[in-house]
Amino acid sequence: MRYHSTRSHTPEVSAMRAILNGAAPDGGLYVPAHMPQIDLPSLARLSYPEVAGQLLHAFLPDFDQADLQAAVNQAYAAFDTPAVAPLARVGNTWVLELFHGPTAAFKDIALQTLPRLMAQARRQLTPDTAYLVLTATSGDTGSAAMRGFADIDGFSVLVYYPSAGISQVQQAQMMRMPGANLAAIGIRGNFDDAQAAVKTAFLQGEALTGKRLALSSANSINIGRLIPQVVYYIKACQELRDKKALLPGQAVDFIVPTGNFGDILAGYLAKRLGCPIGRLVCASNANRVLTDFLQTGLYDKNRQLVQTLSPSMDILISSNLERLLYYALEEDTQQVNSLMADLRQQGRYQLDKKPLEYIQEHFLGASVTDEQTKAAIRTVFDEHGYLMDPHTACAWAAQSALPDTSNPRVVLATASPFKFPETIISALHLPVPDTLEGMWQAISDVSRQALPAALRAVMDWPIRHTALVDKTEILKDIQRRTKP
Ligand SMILES: *Cc1c(COP(=O)(O)O)cnc(C)c1O
Repeated sequence: MRYHSTRSHTPEVSAMRAILNGAAPDGGLYVPAHMPQIDLPSLARLSYPEVAGQLLHAFLPDFDQADLQAAVNQAYAAFDTPAVAPLARVGNTWVLELFHGPTAAFKDIALQTLPRLMAQARRQLTPDTAYLVLTATSGDTGSAAMRGFADIDGFSVLVYYPSAGISQVQQAQMMRMPGANLAAIGIRGNFDDAQAAVKTAFLQGEALTGKRLALSSANSINIGRLIPQVVYYIKACQELRDKKALLPGQAVDFIVPTGNFGDILAGYLAKRLGCPIGRLVCASNANRVLTDFLQTGLYDKNRQLVQTLSPSMDILISSNLERLLYYALEEDTQQVNSLMADLRQQGRYQLDKKPLEYIQEHFLGASVTDEQTKAAIRTVFDEHGYLMDPHTACAWAAQSALPDTSNPRVVLATASPFKFPETIISALHLPVPDTLEGMWQAISDVSRQALPAALRAVMDWPIRHTALVDKTEILKDIQRRTKP
């Protein structure tokens, strides 16, 4: 199994190399040269970590299979349930809970695994090179990457996040995360400013950081982050079959709260592997670039980024869409290249009718306002006693885009509601406590749910990372922290 860029069929590289590099040198994203054949029914009786081990082995055959299995076993032992991604029944809808990991958001599912894979690849390919994992985050990726790479030999992590515009809990997680090889830096600026500086740093490479340090990425452009996310789609379909909620001839519709398009693309890969998936609903907040694209084929990022109640979805350039374009264009890398050049030069591109129709067969877009998100939190709690975080609630509200069918529906729940207490308190019209602990207590009391242990620990850790830089100083800051 070899990998190449979405922008060129050559050169092909090994899975280890693709995972260490993060992005392809030509700016494209790595895709497998062909889809592996996986006998899904043979996975039916396996545990979550066992399915993950099998799937990773199929996609990453140059890794030692026992090492892969050990990596996922360790990764999912850090979750607070052996099911890893349990399925809850809420009215006529199923909710797939992806937030049971150590930072209480779905990024843990991949970011508990990826660092272990990168460490194995480094030992094999480049044991003398130290890696700097450089990350721009709008919230959850930062803490999950820090947690995943903490004390992993040969790797250090530098995270830049907008100091205004992420939740209090997200900020506390990053400022307090223990680990000698980690740093989180707030910026005066927004997520796009952080992202732009990080992209420039990657282009400058060793000119910026010196020869002994290689840059890599933990963002979902890394193929090693995508593959672990395919697992829960396969497990969910299997579980619905076992519960007789998915009958022969039916397919499952998944509703996915979407930002960088990584989570939902993993669903598309699961479908290509033979999982009985019907529609993948791409739920967006007021930043409706993807909704417009899925309806018209015009991708246009020339608009203002809006801050919403679902900050991890506040994004105008959804990187992983490039991988879907590659498949929709029947793997024609030249056409992908030319669309991405349009995006760079004009901030927009128009997809032709035929590939657009292909995408519309599989995907449906829906944009949800903050008011609709809050209303979903409130009504689902009132009617079913189930509490959703704002990202999950956005996906819940996007169900209305689906035509009425007898297909079972699964909403992906990407964060614990305790991660966004301000929004929950406001949506439920509760009196506003003045401390974070007070908010957590109020939510715990009303929902009769315990605060996840993952979050309880955070406020006991001392504050370690207080640096704050201007958006114009990010590159200088990287250089200062990395030059010997
Ligand atoms: C990252 C994130 C998303 C978006 O996932 P993508 O893979 O970037 O589309 C949605 N919800 C939460 C809570 C997240 O952290």
